[in-house]
This record gives sequence, C-alpha cells and structure tokens, in this order.
Amino acid sequence: MDGDLLGTEDGGRGRRRMADQIVEDFLSAIGAGELVAGANVPAESALSTQYGVSRSVVREAVRTLAAKGFVIASQGSATTVAPRTAWNVLDPAFLAVNSGEDFFDNLQQARELLEPTIAALAAQTITDLDIERLEELHARFDLAKDADEHARADIEFHEAIAAASGNPVLVAVHTLISSLAQRTRARSAELPGAVERAKYWHGEILTALKSRSAADSERAMRLHLRQVRGELETLGFAVGGDDRFQ
Ligand SMILES: [Zn+2]
Repeated sequence: MDGDLLGTEDGGRGRRRMADQIVEDFLSAIGAGELVAGANVPAESALSTQYGVSRSVVREAVRTLAAKGFVIASQGSATTVAPRTAWNVLDPAFLAVNSGEDFFDNLQQARELLEPTIAALAAQTITDLDIERLEELHARFDLAKDADEHARADIEFHEAIAAASGNPVLVAVHTLISSLAQRTRARSAELPGAVERAKYWHGEILTALKSRSAADSERAMRLHLRQVRGELETLGFAVGGDDRFQ
C-alpha cells in the first residue's frame, strides 16, 4: 500500500477523493492477498495519520469497504477483512485494481458452466427471427476491423444466444459476465488464427441452433469455450485445465 505517499500531497483534494483512495488501496491489498480474510484492518487513528486525513474520512472509506463486503466493521471491536465468499468481486472498484490471476480463471469457469446450458435452452426456444439475427452477427465477424470490434461482435453473438433462451435472469447474468470478459476477448482476438477459430465454432453453434438440437448446441458451445480457454492459456492468463468440466 502506498498510503504514505498521499500524506505528502497538498490538501486540496476533496475528501471523497481521499476516501476513494483508501478504498482502492485496501481493495488492492485484499485482492493481492496482502491482507487475508480475518486479518485486522489498521485502527482508524493509524490510518488517519498514515493518509493525513481526518478520522471521518477513514470511517467513510471503511463504511464503503464494508458495504462492498470486503471488511467487517463492528462497534467496539477491530475491523477485519471479510471471508472471501462475502466479497463483491464484481464491484467495478475491485475489478479496476484486481483484474488478473484468479479472476480470469473464475470468469472462464463461470462461462463454461453457464453458456453451454444457455445454448441448450436456446435450441428449444429459438425463433426464426433470432436465427436471422445470429446469422447477421456471425457475418459481421468478418467486417470487424480490429480486436475491439471483434470482441464486441463476439459478445453480441453470445448475448443474442442468451436472449434466445427467453430467460431474462439468465440474460442478465450472462450480460454481466460478458461485459467482464471484454478485455480477454480483445486480447484473444489479437492471436494469430484466433478470430478464424472463433468464427468456425460460432458457425458450428449456429448450425446446431438451427437444427434445434439441444445436445448439439450444448456441445458446440462447450467446444467453443474450450477453444477460448486455449487462447487464454496461450496469452498467459491464469486459467486451469478444463478437465473438471468434462
Ligand atoms: Zn465466441
């Protein structure tokens, strides 16, 4: 944590900004494992001295951390780091400082659990209009001019499949996961042949959905995600083997 640096800066920065900085430092330290679950958070007075801010600014930061599930603050006893399962790991402030290591493995695992099932469901509910939309998105893959456009085209293709499942809860969960995977998708799209490989599997998924086969759609999506996992491994993202999903 670089809190000491802040104490030397001039006092012109707003209190909100200072509280945000404390929150960011703690999210970073917690995410990096420098502060583990159950560890005591330094006392209010110590943090106030370290950051050169009033105790009320420190309290505001601790309240924010507690609301996000990262610390447990209780009257009369030390504030501690909350158990991992309580953390809101999808919180944008947490993600801004913790977007490596386990995160992409967890994200990929969530995709592998969710998306083949969504594809199987979609095969049973998909309309001709949905198929037209998917064909259009599939074709658009070739028109994408750079990695970001490919990533967006990929996300839209997957989102259209989720939408075709007709389950708004699944669509919402899928949308959240998709948006988080934008960065890895853009990186993958830069790998030689990755776009072609994705396009191939999208074609397989589309064919399976058109045949309204739940089993084929599930399988094609699972194989596509295995290909995605391979790209992520090539890029050096920390993703484990996919044996556990077979
Ligand atoms: Zn894809």
